[in-house]
Amino acid sequence: MRIALIHIAQETNDFNPVLTTLEDYEAFGIFEGAETLERLRGLGQVGGHLQAVEDSGLTVETVPIIRAWAVAGGRISRDAFDYFQGKIRAGLEAALAQGGLDGLALQLHGACAAEGIDDVEGEQAALCREILGLDVPIVLGLDHHANITQKTIDNCDAFVGHRTQPHDTFDTGVIGTKLLLKIVSEKLRPTTAWRKIPLVSHQEQFLTSKGPMQVWFDRARALEADPRVLQASNYPMQPWLDVAEGGWSTIVVTNNDQALAEQLADELADLCWSLRDEFQVREAVSIDDAVRMADAETQGIVVISDTGDTVFGGAAGDSNLILEAMIRLNIQSRALVPLISPDAARILTEAGEGATVTLMLGGDAAPEFFTPLEVTGTVRTVGGGIIEIVDGHQSEVNLGQAVIFDVGPITLMITELRGLAGNLPELYEAMGVEPRDYKIAVVKTASNFQYFAPITSRVIRADTSGPGQSDVFTLPWKRIPRPVYPLEPVEDWRAVSSQPGSGASA
Ligand SMILES: [Zn+2]
Repeated sequence: MRIALIHIAQETNDFNPVLTTLEDYEAFGIFEGAETLERLRGLGQVGGHLQAVEDSGLTVETVPIIRAWAVAGGRISRDAFDYFQGKIRAGLEAALAQGGLDGLALQLHGACAAEGIDDVEGEQAALCREILGLDVPIVLGLDHHANITQKTIDNCDAFVGHRTQPHDTFDTGVIGTKLLLKIVSEKLRPTTAWRKIPLVSHQEQFLTSKGPMQVWFDRARALEADPRVLQASNYPMQPWLDVAEGGWSTIVVTNNDQALAEQLADELADLCWSLRDEFQVREAVSIDDAVRMADAETQGIVVISDTGDTVFGGAAGDSNLILEAMIRLNIQSRALVPLISPDAARILTEAGEGATVTLMLGGDAAPEFFTPLEVTGTVRTVGGGIIEIVDGHQSEVNLGQAVIFDVGPITLMITELRGLAGNLPELYEAMGVEPRDYKIAVVKTASNFQYFAPITSRVIRADTSGPGQSDVFTLPWKRIPRPVYPLEPVEDWRAVSSQPGSGASA
């Protein structure tokens, strides 16, 4: 059995105006052919695919086409989109010519938009289908913050979403390929029903381990206990994707039982809708309160979540709002603050270690949210480059130029490339800073606290503005279909009346 493997992923934030380019993907590694498998064994969806193949006991040849991943950010450039379309076409055509294909493990994000293209994954899936025809099954693995579109549904046979937030991408790869091998070897007939739910929400209730998201995701797992159900996956779209078909979704795939798929898709959609107000509950406190509370704690590390500048949600990492409050409030505790700024990284690198420098910090990428702040400090360390990390789907990250810059009790790590801001303690360690020496660490994420968790005493969410802010009402939405709850009141919505597709439900 020959199975092609494609992994191309980026999560787009439409409120970050900085384009994501091929160079951004290159900073995280674009791999083709055999290198894909060598580099990613044990990592992410590609690693999960390899594990599922190994565990299957079947004779499977994986034909790796391309793996490209970039951290969340602004829309991808048209060049990057065209480049990947070219690689998909050439790779699949060559694979067909060299011995045919029995299936495609397609691993995309689902919330990627490009310059002039709202639905990148729909276009990619359609291209794969065009080349492979109807007889080669395509199983699509997605981030569950995906925006599902009709084009995506029409061009794939089955769908697998991440089961947890924080995501276990390896698990998604295992499940997706296991399902694909089953479809091919047992000649299953996957049958899909899906519902679009007119809902957006901030990410404060996005953890699947508690609250309404747990209720919704647990129900999907319970439905999968029925052997007729191949997959039930929920998609609470990440809240900064402003696209023509934007909104939450749920997908149910059965083995050739359309009526059952329709019924269960209704059930999952109606359950989600019944929880709509619980998804909107906000826990974040004002910036000043967050800084004062952290400063007053007796021990650390107190993690302050900069929700508005979440780099894992596609913000640019250039917010100085918490830094400004820390300086103005004259905090006494030692604090770690990350900042992504190519200009500042260059200026401080050129100034050199030991130099005292006054410069403007922040607002490089999203000036409508942040005003540059004048700061004086001392360059402690100049470094950067490629840093080895322990992460679910990545073994290294390129920081570009990076500088440790001390401003009173505040230690800034200023990096040139998007990287992962200061969300992983080992990035500081690689720059010679021991996070345990600090009481406070600002992280540029609103959900992914797992990296700091072993050394965290408390997490405080700061209600910061920015491209990832919790206040979804004041974001400049332009393209998302209206009405959408809670931007407008939507009173009488029911899943059964909203079916995009066959409408076979009673
Ligand atoms: Zn996600």
